[in-house]
Amino acid sequence: MTDRYAVIGNPIAHSKSPQIHKMFAEQTGQDISYEAILAPLDGFAATVERLRKEGYKGCNVTVPFKFEAFQLATQPTERAQIMRTVNTLKFFYGGGIFGDNTDSTGLIHDILFNLGFTLNNKRVLLIGAGGAAYGVVLSLVDMDVKLTIVNRSADKAKTLASSLIPNEFTIIGCGFDEIVSQQFDVVINATSAGLTDSELPLPPTLFAPGALAYDMMYGRDTPFMKFAREQGAAVVSDGLGMLVEQAAESFFIWRGVRPETAPVISALRTAK
Ligand code: NDP
Repeated sequence: MTDRYAVIGNPIAHSKSPQIHKMFAEQTGQDISYEAILAPLDGFAATVERLRKEGYKGCNVTVPFKFEAFQLATQPTERAQIMRTVNTLKFFYGGGIFGDNTDSTGLIHDILFNLGFTLNNKRVLLIGAGGAAYGVVLSLVDMDVKLTIVNRSADKAKTLASSLIPNEFTIIGCGFDEIVSQQFDVVINATSAGLTDSELPLPPTLFAPGALAYDMMYGRDTPFMKFAREQGAAVVSDGLGMLVEQAAESFFIWRGVRPETAPVISALRTAK
């Protein structure tokens, strides 16, 4: 019997997740279906409950429901508990719900394995302090990076830096005016500024020689990516690889099989 999965979000029409999981299923011979479901902004929990009653095995969760998904998870992983956000739910027969956040693995795998950058001991700037930043910050710390978090609302960056971080690391949270004379080896844009084609107030000297500029957004060339190219970043990447890598981790959680990501990333880039 076909096992059913879905991604829940609002909006959701743009989601590439159904395409990605279809390719994973074909590649691995898994008998699953996967669809995109639009939940009302006040109806996330009811939508999850409906899916469970209809026999779905699990779901992905995207904007704006990742914090709410964490609340629903009766068995959150340790990293989900620290980040307090979840993008993958797995439903158990007894009624329990496993919850994990695979965005972090997605980002790290894309940077390390697809883009070939090392992170250990590198100066990393994470721009943003919303759900996406919360989702990845712990994995960055685990890679022993020297992390600075900058955000338009500086207080949110400071809260994120101080609340999540093990004591042995020095993590700085600040506003844009405080990074004026600094350089970074890896700059990750985890804001939604690209959605509105907004430019970020970044200094032109931001990128160290050989730097990676990474925008978590995908599907468009953002002002951040253009800025990074103009200012000499060695590699400029969008977040498509992260999207596919986080999906692969979810697929593994549900099916116990890890799909190959490279052909899927390549197929999506060709289809653009
Ligand atoms: P949130 O709404 O939770 O947070 C938005 C963040 O962007 C805040 O830090 C906000 O700053 C900042 N921001 C928004 N507009 C501007 C602007 N004009 N100038 C400066 N800062 C701005 O969104 P998410 O964190 O959930 O998502 C952020 C992005 O990450 C989205 O584009 C999403 O598509 C992408 N993403 C990609 C994934 C992938 O797999 N590739 C996975 C997850 C997310 P402030 O606090 O000051 O408002």
